[in-house]
Amino acid sequence: MTALKIPFFNYPSLFLKHEKEYLAIVRDVLRRGAYIMQKDLEEFEASLAEYLNVKYAIGTADGTMSLLMILKAIGVGPGDEVIVPSHTFVASAAAVHHTGATPVLADCGEDHLIHAGSIKNCISSRTKAVMPVQLNGRTVDMEAISAVADRYHLTVVEDACQALGSKFKGRFAGTFGIAGAFSFYPSKTLGCFGDGGAIVTSDDSIAEKIYRLRDHGRSSNGDVVCFGFNARLDNLQAAILNFKLQSYDSEIRKRRDLAQMYDDRLKGLKEVRLPPAPGERPEHFDIFQNYEIEADRRDQLREFLLSRGVQTILQWGGRTIHQFAALGLDGAFPATEEMTTRFMLLPMNASLEGSDIDYICEQIISFYRSGR
Ligand SMILES: *Cc1c(COP(=O)(O)O)cnc(C)c1O
Repeated sequence: MTALKIPFFNYPSLFLKHEKEYLAIVRDVLRRGAYIMQKDLEEFEASLAEYLNVKYAIGTADGTMSLLMILKAIGVGPGDEVIVPSHTFVASAAAVHHTGATPVLADCGEDHLIHAGSIKNCISSRTKAVMPVQLNGRTVDMEAISAVADRYHLTVVEDACQALGSKFKGRFAGTFGIAGAFSFYPSKTLGCFGDGGAIVTSDDSIAEKIYRLRDHGRSSNGDVVCFGFNARLDNLQAAILNFKLQSYDSEIRKRRDLAQMYDDRLKGLKEVRLPPAPGERPEHFDIFQNYEIEADRRDQLREFLLSRGVQTILQWGGRTIHQFAALGLDGAFPATEEMTTRFMLLPMNASLEGSDIDYICEQIISFYRSGR
């Protein structure tokens, strides 16, 4: 096989793939002078709400502000605790921190997602909410999470930033709790050309609060009714996102096809643990935001792949939230701890071809065969 160069993510391809269409959108929006809270935002919000079958989809500045505003809207504040998995992006816990509440970390299960049993051990008289994080495009068993949440009267707030279109038992990630947060960061499955996010909910009063919070605390008639933020989704980004949402199902199909190829080629290797293949567990519909594997001699494998032109990464630099000493959230998380010695991400995005996956898998197999 000839050597290939496979970057972990190909940022220019996001634009180049539909350059003509994007430039036409930009020209149209800018010529109308439609920069903030205009019809393109409303149209995107309507499309997203329809796609997810929710009453409200509200465009926001980014995924992190989405989480913060949801927590504010449900009244989380100083003295409260919110349970968050240690295995997540720091933003999930930062959103809790910036309400004045305390993030309390939970361990993960075999699927790398928050574990219902661990949530139970985190509950105190101050616990107000739990934030399942639907990582890597997979939705956690929400029946197990909801059972714990119901029993202890906790509000469920979903961090679905990595899981637009992912489902558990036919229901979309982000639509299980009181509200869900999404991110349109460029490398997310639905990415814009900068920062962007959304909150989805079917609760009228939460939606009303979010509309105010994202726009300086103003109600629809301009009256200031609370202290808010400036956390709106740019109208230009909304126009781009609305265009991309029209073909989003084919983006998901492509990722699932690539995941199936990885699975077909690597499943015989005892040295790696793969995520479940598409369709392997019928109650889950995964969208493969990432392809996260566990690997023996992980660091050597990554070095070898790099020498063969294949870039891989460790999500969040290979550390989860309790491992950042500066945050002061240390504790005992044995499953997360073990996982961080083995986890890594293989390239997974719509710019890859089947031949790229063949090449990557070939290298992985040759690494283990040679006993390197
Ligand atoms: C990307 C991401 C966020 C934050 O989204 P931004 O839009 O970058 O603020 C939060 N949580 C998870 C799990 C993410 O992957």
